Amino acid sequence: MKEKYHKKVFKIGLSMGEICHHRKNNGGCIFCLPETFTDNIKSKSISEQIDYLLPKMKKHSDIFIAYFQDETSFDLDFEIFKTKIKSVLNYDEIKEITISTRPDVLKIKHLDFLSELNFDVNIEIGVQTVNDESLRFLNRGHTFSDIKNAINILKNYDFRIGTHLILGIPNETFEDNLNTINYLNSQNIDEIKIHNLVAYKGTKLGKMISNSEVELLNFDGYLGLLAKIIPYIKSEIVISRLFTSNVNRTGTAIKSFPGYKKDWMNKLVHLMNEKDIFQGQKN
Ligand code: SF4
Repeated sequence: MKEKYHKKVFKIGLSMGEICHHRKNNGGCIFCLPETFTDNIKSKSISEQIDYLLPKMKKHSDIFIAYFQDETSFDLDFEIFKTKIKSVLNYDEIKEITISTRPDVLKIKHLDFLSELNFDVNIEIGVQTVNDESLRFLNRGHTFSDIKNAINILKNYDFRIGTHLILGIPNETFEDNLNTINYLNSQNIDEIKIHNLVAYKGTKLGKMISNSEVELLNFDGYLGLLAKIIPYIKSEIVISRLFTSNVNRTGTAIKSFPGYKKDWMNKLVHLMNEKDIFQGQKN
């Protein structure tokens, strides 16, 4: 981004205000806690959200990406979706739109509209893993086949394609992680965001952890896994996240990693330098 705009670029987290159909109808993913998504702005219009957030962020930059990360934005009725996206275009400071969504809800009408905007659009797909058993464990409500379908649909457009992954899903082996990375490498996607699985109180996963039904990786285990998998990720793919964000927004994470993201990043860099590990090394 810095190379593209020669300046720091910040993301403004916005909400379409729609509740994810999977949570509404099927109970949602076992780790889902909507309070971790965005500030309490869901009920506001897009302009109100931007007018509230932009002045606060302007001290850091004057170039922004409108980031619809929460819930499942493609759930929205087309006319409402169109109106909300058009509101973003009224702001000169906003240069791109990123929409994060589930793989089973991409709608051609919505995508066609976005592709005709003459605006840079990034679509991020919540892949998490390509292992169907793990997808079932997470109660994702979609399969690997839906993921393949979504990526194939997106290849018909000029959007930049991003993906979200979870590392450290209980019972996944390193081979499972590698299968996910190999699939993404083979699809020439542009960006990967890697997340550690976080258990929040009040979620199904939180209950499973409290009842000792499953265990999550501790910090050292997760760091070791990152260092092991990063060499298999193609060097052309941008890795834009390595740890779950907003973990402490609600204060309800169970056994969260000690310290802060900056320390975790420093430790990862130190480990990779020490072991002479780098992205693309084994690809
Ligand atoms: S798809 Fe996203 S918003 Fe919907 S239930 Fe799963 S984590 Fe929550």
